[in-house]
Amino acid sequence: MDNQNSKITIIGAGPVGLMCAIYAINNNFRPIIISLDEENQKTAGVAAGGMLAPAYECFEEADDDLTNFALCSRKEWDNIAKALGIDIAPYALALGNDDDELARLEKIKARAKSFDLIFEYIKPYDFLDCKHALSLTTDGLLNPIIAMNRMRKYCIENGAIFINDEIINIEKNKIFGQKQDYKSELTIIANGFNAKKFMEKVSATNKLIAVRGQVIEIDCKPNFDGSMRHNSTYLMARGDKIMVGATSQMNDEDWQIRETDHEFLFKNACQLMPQLTDKKVTNSFAGLRPLIKGEAPIIGESEIDNVFVAIGAYRNGWAYAPYMGKILIENIALGTNIPMYLSGK
Ligand SMILES: Cc1cc2nc3c(=O)[nH]c(=O)nc-3n(C[C@H](O)[C@H](O)[C@H](O)COP(=O)(O)OP(=O)(O)OC[C@H]3O[C@@H](n4cnc5c(N)ncnc54)[C@H](O)[C@@H]3O)c2cc1C
Repeated sequence: MDNQNSKITIIGAGPVGLMCAIYAINNNFRPIIISLDEENQKTAGVAAGGMLAPAYECFEEADDDLTNFALCSRKEWDNIAKALGIDIAPYALALGNDDDELARLEKIKARAKSFDLIFEYIKPYDFLDCKHALSLTTDGLLNPIIAMNRMRKYCIENGAIFINDEIINIEKNKIFGQKQDYKSELTIIANGFNAKKFMEKVSATNKLIAVRGQVIEIDCKPNFDGSMRHNSTYLMARGDKIMVGATSQMNDEDWQIRETDHEFLFKNACQLMPQLTDKKVTNSFAGLRPLIKGEAPIIGESEIDNVFVAIGAYRNGWAYAPYMGKILIENIALGTNIPMYLSGK
């Protein structure tokens, strides 16, 4: 099918919206991406750690469908990262100290084996207060701020149009913005938690819950690569800084940075890596993770003709974005039903 002249309007320029735009370009559509301006951008994507972590996120509890989806999306990242100019550090450790935590690592290792993946323990770094380290060879790390810029650049260089506006309503073939209204042949709702705005018309968005999160940046040159996770605390190497995540507050819709979260995250980081104690927190990012009960994203048709959704990536929007974009756009291009996680209607 030649989609050269078909336009797709995407609401949202977070990881999911941008990936939809990239796959739209690669399938010969011309995407128009409408998102809030930089001052008011409300993008969980920039607050994120940037871990692409199918093993850590799925091997313990997720069902086989979601786990396969996460693993496919991780492979898809490797396929497209080079074209986009995005580096992925292929290093990730799951850490444990006591027997319960070791049992958790063993569970991840055993589930990996059922997917023909062999994960091995390595000697934990001397600078960590930790006994066990399992190397997760599937998981990786990118810098979300660089990745977002590269994805936008790819879109612009390939003819996509970006518009700053806040969309407040949607109809078949029409979108209503604060600044103006837009005609749209085909619309994709990909504006993260804020898609809840459309809940009266698009039932899938009604299922969204905000899970607020914050990460901090510590002024310390990393002496490790990639990411290291110990329960809900993770340390990530980002340039010449160490990032620490993350808080998690269910049903909290506040995008503002909180000083109290700095203390909490800094304390957790120092417990794991005592040498951080005399370092300074130099930056902080907060965002709302878009959770859908069941923790799987929704990709598919809405009850409004020609309006689709790509929402609910929760704490894995970076990890899942390529496969969300690919599945949605390729099925739109073929005019086929979307096979997984869709229940828009
Ligand atoms: C602290 C924290 C750490 C995280 N760490 C990771 C991680 O390590 N790995 C990972 O995979 N994921 C992580 N996540 C989750 C990830 O950030 C989200 O899943 C992801 O950002 C969701 O992408 P999205 O594109 O759906 O929404 P968002 O990233 O929230 O983007 C929404 C977009 O829509 C736009 N928008 C909003 N409302 C409107 C409107 N009305 N009109 C027009 N535009 C609008 C915004 O400007 C923005 O461009 C983390 C999240 C947080 C908060």
